[in-house]
Amino acid sequence: MQAVSSAPRASNSPRSTWYRVTRIALSLSPLLSVHIALAAIPFVEFTIWSFVMIVVVTRIIGLGITVGFHRYFSHRSFKTTRWCQFLLAAAGCAALQKGPLWWVIHHRLHHKHSDTPDDPHSPVVDGFFHGHLGWLFTRDLMRPDHGLVKDLTKYPELVWLDRLWMIPGLLMAAACYACLGWNGVIYGYCLSVVLIFEVTFAVNSIGHLWGRQRFATGEGSRNNAVLGYLAMGDGWHNNHHRAPYSARHGFAWYEFDMSYQFIRLLALLGLAWDVKQPPPELLAGTELPVPEASADPAIDPEPANTTPASGHSQ
Ligand SMILES: [Zn+2]
Ligand SMILES: [Zn+2]
Repeated sequence: MQAVSSAPRASNSPRSTWYRVTRIALSLSPLLSVHIALAAIPFVEFTIWSFVMIVVVTRIIGLGITVGFHRYFSHRSFKTTRWCQFLLAAAGCAALQKGPLWWVIHHRLHHKHSDTPDDPHSPVVDGFFHGHLGWLFTRDLMRPDHGLVKDLTKYPELVWLDRLWMIPGLLMAAACYACLGWNGVIYGYCLSVVLIFEVTFAVNSIGHLWGRQRFATGEGSRNNAVLGYLAMGDGWHNNHHRAPYSARHGFAWYEFDMSYQFIRLLALLGLAWDVKQPPPELLAGTELPVPEASADPAIDPEPANTTPASGHSQ
């Protein structure tokens, strides 16, 4: 198997294997901890307030991933203020999927090498489990190539947040404890993080295996209706691979895209501008030829169609 330049697969000697496993376990310990914490569920009563808190927290950290880490940082599909940028990064960090630079580097690699051996998480090449979460453990992901995120490393606060990515999660868990005690921690925070983790990573696995391919994008990306709704719009993944720069992933009227609606709200509040749109032909669902390969397909603005988000109805 060919190696990824920025995320090489480690050698198989016992020493390097244990060293790698230990490093990975430590780096993923916050995420592993919230999964283990779910063992407490049988001992903590589920109330209507638990449900309310799950809804609120999954919206905050989910949008931190889909609007923040994905559409804003990875694809630069709109512009915002520096403060709003920081808050989006902090909300994404609270989902415990590591820091914004780490997340963006691997996502840009995914778009650059989709469903080839150089894709960090292709279920088409390496199977479902690898594409879902096995890739976190089978590659050395500790020193990703920061050359892929030069547009982000110029902000010291993002570099800082990328190193201390667990801090926003700790603060949010503390806020959940302040509201509902351990009920808030177990259901409001830990369960919410696990739900968002599974849905986000299902876009990488299920979203490249099962669903409709409206556009011939040359890889396995699909529009999966269930993921479309659960992943707040990111499950319209074939649309997204066809127009990665677009802030809008749901192209048809029935493809509800909560993340795009949130970006429209930010635009209405004056907190988002230059919101990139797909060409009108794509919104009509017309199948077009695969676009010419660009220098950087993840962030290439292709047709810089940046009509105000609030001008579109869905
Ligand atoms: Zn994809
Ligand atoms: Zn993407």
